[in-house]
Amino acid sequence: MSLRLRGIRKLYPVAPDQHAEIIEDAEIKIDGEHISWVGPQSDAPPLGDNEQVVDLQGAMVTPGWIDAHTHLIWAGSRQHEFTQRLQGKSYLEIAKAGGGIMSTVRNVREATVEQLVTWARPRLQRFISYGVTTLEVKSGYGLSTDAELKMLRAAALLSKETPVDIEPTFLGAHTIPTEYKSNRAAYLDLVCEEMIPKVVDEGLATSCDVFLEESAFTYEEAKRVLTTGQRYGLHARIHADQLSSGRGAELAAEIGAASADHLEEASLEGIKAMADAGVVACMIPGSTFSLRQGKYAPARTFLDEGVTLTLSTDINPGTTTSENIALMGTLACLHMGLSPLEVLHAVTRGAATSLKKQQHIGSVAKGFQADLAIFDAPDVETLFYHYGVSHVRQVIKRGTLLWSKPPLDGTTQHTFV
Ligand SMILES: [Zn+2]
Repeated sequence: MSLRLRGIRKLYPVAPDQHAEIIEDAEIKIDGEHISWVGPQSDAPPLGDNEQVVDLQGAMVTPGWIDAHTHLIWAGSRQHEFTQRLQGKSYLEIAKAGGGIMSTVRNVREATVEQLVTWARPRLQRFISYGVTTLEVKSGYGLSTDAELKMLRAAALLSKETPVDIEPTFLGAHTIPTEYKSNRAAYLDLVCEEMIPKVVDEGLATSCDVFLEESAFTYEEAKRVLTTGQRYGLHARIHADQLSSGRGAELAAEIGAASADHLEEASLEGIKAMADAGVVACMIPGSTFSLRQGKYAPARTFLDEGVTLTLSTDINPGTTTSENIALMGTLACLHMGLSPLEVLHAVTRGAATSLKKQQHIGSVAKGFQADLAIFDAPDVETLFYHYGVSHVRQVIKRGTLLWSKPPLDGTTQHTFV
């Protein structure tokens, strides 16, 4: 099946060999699941037999957006912690009183795999409505072999039922569970010697992540978990330098991690080391905003040093609960000094690089997967200027219409593919 998209007033291709940031009056040819031609409408090849033409009537188009850091799957709500934080309690105080990650862990351990899928599904639908076509999803609220495998099986089930690409990450080393508090070495053995082999054996993850932080794992512990994951063929990701400087950026560089995430407290040496090692930096302004930390990650320093950036929601039940990745773009513009175009690069090609899929997704270019976000907006600046809402009109995944904004005339059916 061949499809021709016309009437694109502005196309942002974010292509690897980019000659133009913007193509005006663009046309895109899609064959099956892939893009076969992109350029100005005036240069387009003649229409072939059986090609379906769709006029997008002046829309703005970007690659499908990619969120490379999410905790999409969880059970229960921590809404009451929001109120506690409003009353002045800190994240660590709430955790010490039995809230925080461990309260989600208790709920996840009691849930069935089907329940986890049911509760994650509407979150995924909201992500799609913001133009997201690929999503990384972490475990990390099970913290036992069975419960960690259950979370990853839920991610696999969700992946099967939707065309959205879900990249699963094993995060058994999210925190030390209560029952191992007095014997953390035994928990690390469990993660490295039992959980990782079983996760890999079932083919349930492509990456391994760890939370390097005073309240979670040390530098040496994090290194053991990530290098064990690497020996089993998993890419390394790391929650690094979020609340305190733990040399997480340095560790990510040392072991050749795919990405280091958060990085509010990263050192300049760590940032330079990440640049040299080609580690992608994932910016998470929603967490800084929600925790009212005030100190956003130094995104401009990362860019100046030559580090590739991505930008994520980090959706999770504790610190930041929004699927609105464009809103994270607004925060990145206002508080991190990124330009709208830099944000667009971060949520497309930057995120694809973090997932090691930059040859396949994150660009509108010949040979790439036909993942597109189609906007009712004149340009990319509008998405961050007019913030807090979705400007997405339609979402195409692998050449097929995945989502469409309901029209105002009361009809519900949308088909053009
Ligand atoms: Zn996270």
